[in-house]
Amino acid sequence: MKTTQIPSPMPFPSPKNALAAAFNFLLPPLCPCCNGAVGENGGLCSECWKQINFINEPICAICGAPFDLPVAKGTLCAACIAEKPLFEKARSAVLYDEGSKKLILEFKHSDKIQAAPMMAEWMARAGADLWSDIDWIVPVPLHRWRLLARRYNQAALLAAQLGKLSCRPVAQNGIRRLRATQSQGHMNKKERHENLRGAFAVDQKWEQRLAGKNILIVDDVMTTGATISEAACALQKIGVCKVYALTFARVRKGD
Ligand SMILES: [Zn+2]
Ligand SMILES: [Zn+2]
Repeated sequence: MKTTQIPSPMPFPSPKNALAAAFNFLLPPLCPCCNGAVGENGGLCSECWKQINFINEPICAICGAPFDLPVAKGTLCAACIAEKPLFEKARSAVLYDEGSKKLILEFKHSDKIQAAPMMAEWMARAGADLWSDIDWIVPVPLHRWRLLARRYNQAALLAAQLGKLSCRPVAQNGIRRLRATQSQGHMNKKERHENLRGAFAVDQKWEQRLAGKNILIVDDVMTTGATISEAACALQKIGVCKVYALTFARVRKGD
């Protein structure tokens, strides 16, 4: 459903507001998920919004996996008890499900990058208890040929927005992908770890600046945690202090 957007009259519009209003008049803002009309650029329409499932407490104190039943704060999930992850803590804004999948796929493949500020805001909130400890933000890299095909790295866009929101510096290209890895869509946890082993390294230019610092790895989706673990491993090789992770969505364990 598309309606014509009529900019509301403003007696003394600032140049910025006037420009935004003129722009909205020419190109009415659309929902980045379904292309329906919305009031503001970058926001979701009410239908798409209803389908987003935000991750709330109770969550695993380390990996951020949501629990189905109430548990005491500080409780760890079975996976984190069995093997402590390479990162201190990971947090995600929303569950990866039908509602968020559409938004993420549009963001990834259809140039709907206007959703980045909204997505980053949700992420910043989900990572609220991490920020006081973070020195640098580093996105998970996309391999060059995929970057060419896609024109942008969605993790890098989210990292840039998070840098603005948190006033933390962003080491874009701080981690490099050493080789192309296979698409992981249908791989299990073990296969993903094998696929990614040794795939990342910290760029030499960044080694000195990142060493001894607390780093936040940013990605769009956390599935088994294999990508985050591999990136954390690369950072630990150059002697960073602590590694944290923040993703927009995460797959519920067992999905
Ligand atoms: Zn929508
Ligand atoms: Zn956990």
